Amino acid sequence: MSHGTRDEGAPRTDGPVPPGRHAVVVGGGLAGTTAALALADAGVRVTLLEGRPRLGGLAFSFRRGDLTVDNGQHVYLRCCTAYRWFLDRIGGADLAPLQDRLDVPVVDARRPEGRRLGRLRRDPLPVPLHLGRSLAAYPHLSLADRAKVGRAALALKGLDLDDPALDERDFGSWLAAHGQSPRAVEALWDLVGVATLNAVAGDSSLALAAMVFKTGLLSDPGAADIGWARVPLGDLHDRLAREALDAAGVRTGTRTRVTSVRAGDGGGWTVDVPGETLRADAVVLAVPQREAYDLLPAGALDDPERLLGIGTAPILNVHVVYDRTVLTRPFFAALGTPVQWVFDRTDASGLRHGQYLALSQSVAHDDIDAPVAALRERYLPELERLLPRTRDAEVLDFFVTRERTATFAPAPGVGRLRPGARTKAPGLYLAGAWTATGWPATMESAVRSGVGAADAALGALGRPRPRHLFALEEAA
Ligand SMILES: Cc1cc2nc3c(=O)[nH]c(=O)nc-3n(C[C@H](O)[C@H](O)[C@H](O)COP(=O)(O)OP(=O)(O)OC[C@H]3O[C@@H](n4cnc5c(N)ncnc54)[C@H](O)[C@@H]3O)c2cc1C
Repeated sequence: MSHGTRDEGAPRTDGPVPPGRHAVVVGGGLAGTTAALALADAGVRVTLLEGRPRLGGLAFSFRRGDLTVDNGQHVYLRCCTAYRWFLDRIGGADLAPLQDRLDVPVVDARRPEGRRLGRLRRDPLPVPLHLGRSLAAYPHLSLADRAKVGRAALALKGLDLDDPALDERDFGSWLAAHGQSPRAVEALWDLVGVATLNAVAGDSSLALAAMVFKTGLLSDPGAADIGWARVPLGDLHDRLAREALDAAGVRTGTRTRVTSVRAGDGGGWTVDVPGETLRADAVVLAVPQREAYDLLPAGALDDPERLLGIGTAPILNVHVVYDRTVLTRPFFAALGTPVQWVFDRTDASGLRHGQYLALSQSVAHDDIDAPVAALRERYLPELERLLPRTRDAEVLDFFVTRERTATFAPAPGVGRLRPGARTKAPGLYLAGAWTATGWPATMESAVRSGVGAADAALGALGRPRPRHLFALEEAA
């Protein structure tokens, strides 16, 4: 098991198991890191095993020359209380602050220059009035559409998220049935929904879409204020997470791929990694659904084939370094162009001269396998349409990052396929953004799943839940 430089002196885990309960967490993404921290905080001896050389899973950074690049721009909302707890727990909250107040510039490339900019922002008023003024002035919707948006929002607010029938319907047909024009879907519902669900409304489960819009826009006035890392994601999800795990006494093995999880002879579990076998009283599998399917022992789920029915959806990030400043805002969203959301990553990446923009392209089925040259031809002219200053600027670097299985596909019916934390095998638990958290595939869902799996394991291990652990609503 490779532990990286910081683990060099850690004890090996083969040989006799020392006294005290031992949990093995498989997968060092946000779900597994959370579960490991929560179990260790409760006094359980924890080993965290991650196949890659770093922690952070799908939200990570890498070096490209002098730049530190995130594999994909990540944002969270004020209502993501579990992820905010996680940031606090690893000491990273100040490095990924929230906006004081929701403010999203929305540029429509089809409108004449000077009339392109709309703003989705909130006022200090109770829900739903907090968005009323902004929507009333939103130039990308007709007057009639603006009036109808309010009615649909109220209908959405009235939906019962516990009603299983919601998961069988798609959000697009629900919006159409509630008077939303294709233009309103594009300029408002999909603008938010595509970025949070990684699917257009017509391909999204009404349950997941309703959850996102109710929680983000219709619960608390500040719920949709946006937060994002001002440092590389790796500083949070790898470096700080690793420090927190070390301080909590977790043994972390990176470059350590688990090859099988088996019931132990005398009870408990046996976890195999190349060259080593670990024994554990509890195992949390915090790996993607396909890997969970491969690792789950027979009989652990009633119908494990369901895991294979959970589809996936890609996200592409297009990275462009210009020789000068071309964008004066931290980010904006775009309409009337293939460009979706554009973020200024200059400071976070360590770039000294010029400006580095990252384009976050969700639902990227058409682009995900396109050659870089074709993507360059497609996106640079679009940036010239959106950002006039790019027309005189030199492109110093252009590259893309492709995540083909960035999220699970939030299709109607997916709720039936997502398992909870508990399996039928005592002492074996599941975590991951794709498990049944009620949230779409987000950092919030991953952290919630990690808390849920740790809660379940602690109950079985007879350990008290640490008081400072994030309280899931159901568990509270
Ligand atoms: C480009 C992109 C943009 C995104 N944007 C956002 C966003 O803006 N906001 C947001 O909230 N979310 C966003 N997400 C989603 C978010 O990143 C994920 O939902 C979350 O990180 C998933 O965490 P996880 O721990 O559930 O799974 P993962 O991150 O997939 O972690 C699973 C880990 O298990 C490891 N593993 C697998 N098999 C084994 C094995 N056999 N042995 C040991 N280890 C193993 C993997 O290497 C991996 O590290 C985005 C994702 C991508 C890819």
